[in-house]
Amino acid sequence: MLDCAIIGGGPAGLTAGLYTTRGGLDNVTMFEKGLPGGQITMSSEIENYPGATAHNLSGMDFMAPWQEQCQRFGLKHEMSEVTRVSRREDGIFTIHKSDGSVDEAKSVIVCTGSAPKRAGFAGEDIYFGRGVSTCATCDGFFYKNKEVAVIGGGDTALEEALYLAKICTKVYLIHRRETFRAAPNTIARVKNTANIELVINAIPEEVFGGAMGVDGIRVKLQDGSSRQIDVPGVFVFVGNNVNNQVLIQEDGSFLCEMTQWGEVKVDLSMKTSIAGLFAAGDMRESAPKQVVCAAGDGAVAALQAIAFVDGH
Ligand code: FAD
Ligand code: NAP
Repeated sequence: MLDCAIIGGGPAGLTAGLYTTRGGLDNVTMFEKGLPGGQITMSSEIENYPGATAHNLSGMDFMAPWQEQCQRFGLKHEMSEVTRVSRREDGIFTIHKSDGSVDEAKSVIVCTGSAPKRAGFAGEDIYFGRGVSTCATCDGFFYKNKEVAVIGGGDTALEEALYLAKICTKVYLIHRRETFRAAPNTIARVKNTANIELVINAIPEEVFGGAMGVDGIRVKLQDGSSRQIDVPGVFVFVGNNVNNQVLIQEDGSFLCEMTQWGEVKVDLSMKTSIAGLFAAGDMRESAPKQVVCAAGDGAVAALQAIAFVDGH
């Protein structure tokens, strides 16, 4: 029986692994379906993690020592996809894996992250990470004093457009309809921001560029004509998928309480509504979706898991 099962090996899971093992739990396994490191390994550069000051530090190079450090303290890593976490009446958790095998654990920290949706226009995948981004906090600074485009009409797109408008000279907010989904107050703030131009009833067709990255985006307008907007950066905010599948039970319900957007509800200790079950990182409610925050969550959850296991 595991003292703690950690599901997901991104920044939250690896930090939870470091803190649980170094904090005295003997038998901890981190289940990761791919290579440990998480989403940030897709990034060509990270420059907002405190202390990580190396120039052009790729996400892959940044994350490599995290795993090494955990293993020094005894974290076991199993390369498995977890299909479901369930809980018996006696409070013991069962970890169901895609090969049909199961493990049992006294506590579980779920850190399966999230993934921004793609809009599906031409060039989006080709230029992802080279001018197309889904994270203004991560990449906005690279476009300081430049013009950028933002795609989407929900709260995220409008809030991120406001964030980018403080850094960039101009933000083109491209939305496929005339009305926005965002909160009225946010819409008003966007409309009152001088350097945000609304490009409405505009469907993104293609991001174009060359070896150096993005040169611009072409959108199709309502009258059938095309408009070309020359920008080096395109930010896509068309929704987000939370990787919450492991919490779905056989009857379709979730193991613990969730928000209406599919994020796990947690308190400040990363405790879910179920004793012994913790959630950390991008998949928990109101997550800032930053490596430093996911790591912090992982540490908090681990300390709580240690206390929970000790209490039994
Ligand atoms: P994730 O990193 O998403 O890790 C979750 C892990 O769980 C993954 O490894 C996944 O394979 C695994 N997993 C999922 N489901 C299962 C399952 N069923 N079984 C087993 N394993 C599973 N943040 C910054 O702070 N600065 C940046 O500059 C920055 N740049 C970014 C650039 C890009 C391109 C992207 C995509 C994100 C960027 N971010 C950045 C955001 C940052 O990567 C995330 O906030 C952070 O990785 C979240 O960590 P996490 O551990 O919660 O989840
Ligand atoms: P969202 O509300 O689903 O909005 C996604 C936006 O992207 C929509 O405007 C949609 O257009 C557009 N879109 C979707 N697919 C597209 C495509 N292929 N091409 C072009 N545009 C596309 O997503 P979100 O903004 O990430 O918000 C998710 C949830 O979190 C929402 O419920 C939101 O209220 C909440 N949230 C709240 C806050 C806050 O309260 N401060 C902050 C952020 C998010 P259509 O409108 O035409 O469908």
